Amino acid sequence: MTESILPPLTPSTLYLVATPIGNLEDMTLRGLRVLKECDVVAAEDTRRSGQLLKHFEISKPMLSYFQFNEAKRSEEIIERLRRGQRVALVTDAGTPGISDPGERVVKAARAAGFRVESIPGACALVAALTASGLSTAEFHFIGFLPHKSGQRRKKLEALKSFDGTLVLYESPYRIEKLLGELHEIYKERTIVLARELTKKFEEYLRGTPAELLEMLKKRSLKGEFVVLISGNEGEEDDREEGEESGERESEESSF
Ligand code: SAM
Repeated sequence: MTESILPPLTPSTLYLVATPIGNLEDMTLRGLRVLKECDVVAAEDTRRSGQLLKHFEISKPMLSYFQFNEAKRSEEIIERLRRGQRVALVTDAGTPGISDPGERVVKAARAAGFRVESIPGACALVAALTASGLSTAEFHFIGFLPHKSGQRRKKLEALKSFDGTLVLYESPYRIEKLLGELHEIYKERTIVLARELTKKFEEYLRGTPAELLEMLKKRSLKGEFVVLISGNEGEEDDREEGEESGERESEESSF
């Protein structure tokens, strides 16, 4: 398919363009086309996203939606949509709107009645969950926990009865603190630390909180992390195996 027969971008639309979370090969063809054909790229950090555009040889006016104060942040974007512009929104990494300031801009654009389109791609949450080996049937995404100890604990306690996988983002500086909290609240659960996804040193570390804390004594863990907490997997496995084989049989018999 050549570019010339693809439909042009729609005027007055905010395009949410997912960008790589570490590996530049994860930039999608459609994302690149939107970045090339839009009128302006709104970025969380224009310097960082400028490097991405440069890598793909795209030259485009950029505006920062993070350098203004809270109230003004989305104003310029809305004004441009009003003038009929096609605005591509990118965040520092991954899918705009997932634990980053993209969410606010989308709310403002929707509230002002503008079209918002998602250009899917890399997302640390999805990459980590799907390769973790934990249940993907039901999961709860927490994003970043609050910084204050009491609030963190309260949040973790409140989710203890949830059957599915819990997924959260955490800074490398708080991984040890988090594992300590998980040792108290989720002592018997399997924890997966998905580290440096899509990068050279990508790895999945798994164990109980105590086992992972033990491992931390022997090596330091740097980089970016997604932390996953297993649900009541033992009970689920028995049920799922039966259901899945039944499903497969009926699918096969229809061919
Ligand atoms: N919007 C992004 C997405 O779609 O995943 C997330 C942005 S959030 C500000 C950044 C957090 O995502 C990091 O602190 C880390 O928890 C997680 N993250 C981003 N890139 C990652 C990577 N390559 N490996 C592991 N975790 C990553």
